[in-house]
Amino acid sequence: MIPYKILLDEQDMPRQWYNIQADLPNPIKPALNPQTQKPLTPDDLLPIFPMPLILQEVSTERWIDIPDEILEIYKLWRPSPLHRAYNLEKALQTPARIYYKQEGVSPAGSHKPNTAIAQAYYNKVSGMKRLATETGAGQWGSALSLACSLFGLECTVYMVKVSYHQKPYRRSLIETWGANVIPSPSNLTNSGRKVLEEDPDSMGSLGIAISEAVEDAATREDTNYSLGSVLNHVLLHQTIIGLEAKAQLAKVNEYPDVVVACCGGGSNFGGIAFPFLYDKINGKDIQVIAVEPSACPTLTRGEFTYDYGDLAKLTPLCMMYTLGHDFVPPGIHAGGLRYHGDSPLVSQVVNDNLAEARALNQLGVFEAAMLFTRNEGILPAPESAHAIRGAIDVALECKESGEAKTILFNLSGHGHFDLTAYDDYLAGKLDDYEYPDEAIKKSLAGLPKIEL
Ligand SMILES: *Cc1c(COP(=O)(O)O)cnc(C)c1O
Repeated sequence: MIPYKILLDEQDMPRQWYNIQADLPNPIKPALNPQTQKPLTPDDLLPIFPMPLILQEVSTERWIDIPDEILEIYKLWRPSPLHRAYNLEKALQTPARIYYKQEGVSPAGSHKPNTAIAQAYYNKVSGMKRLATETGAGQWGSALSLACSLFGLECTVYMVKVSYHQKPYRRSLIETWGANVIPSPSNLTNSGRKVLEEDPDSMGSLGIAISEAVEDAATREDTNYSLGSVLNHVLLHQTIIGLEAKAQLAKVNEYPDVVVACCGGGSNFGGIAFPFLYDKINGKDIQVIAVEPSACPTLTRGEFTYDYGDLAKLTPLCMMYTLGHDFVPPGIHAGGLRYHGDSPLVSQVVNDNLAEARALNQLGVFEAAMLFTRNEGILPAPESAHAIRGAIDVALECKESGEAKTILFNLSGHGHFDLTAYDDYLAGKLDDYEYPDEAIKKSLAGLPKIEL
């Protein structure tokens, strides 16, 4: 009998990350300097990133050693458990076998510390004293604050003002780990002051907060910038999720037919999926599904082209699926899935049909979250609930067809700080939202014109 939880010993934790850039049938196109529109050079990035991370960003080495200092800290919660969802299977009456990787056991409650720890480490060994970043819902700010406290770095988090006021407990958590939280827009940066001059009551946005954090890092010798998703090195660090899952499934003689994860900037999806895509590129037959909200349908309705990462056009141009850098998604509760663009690596594998994307509505997603929490006990983050819905849909297809597929999904985080969302769902206050074609056309019309 396969146990409820498949555990790895600490000494069996993977000691290398997997870099999918070594195996892509079509390599990703280089990021471009936003001013010159020429491919980025390491010198363009050095004011805000340490050299080891810049090298990882462009590396095509298949396996990259995880430094011992990072492995030691990973051991605080890793290897994370792989669960067999027996109760959920029973509730669905499906012949499918469902497994989920539990990334909610990290101190910050999500997969984000996997890269936060690595980024803090490489900045520390490169002589940095301080990191600056932005946070929307607060998950990334929590993860980086934790990582900085473990490596003795100072940390400043520009938190989108509306979340700063709406999510006071995320802010407390960030402050408890020692970071300085600044509501954005602030009067501490030129970008913040400019916004406040035009609109003193601005509640901020992720785009503005990114501009403030990048400016902070670029103008101080002792400070670098840190990003929680999208970039190649972030997805690299997250592959520990899929590598562990593979080892755990092997322990019970299993291999997934279907791998499912939610997709915002793409880091938890890349993290669980890329080690399996390595096998798919080498001939294995696996279905890999990225699930996004229909309120922010980047992969399913966006364009695969060069675009800026932020509204102010300060970030490099990346070749990715995008809804346009001035796309403003509605305020759905899965705050981590509201980015207008996507990881270039994830975009490439979707464009090459190695993975498929599905867009799901919020009510069905919360229904799935309720079924999951009432059977498996764990309260999922609204983001992770998209993966749960995706996995349940496959399990229900199996019930129709009688196939006993093996399904693996990533439970990217718990929802203990998202209870407002559950309150609203239970009170019947949530609506489905399908982004209108007209609005998407309008934001796509603002894409930069780059010769492909
Ligand atoms: C941030 C976050 C996400 C979305 O980000 P990705 O980079 O797409 O993984 C998903 N789930 C949780 C719990 C998060 O905190």
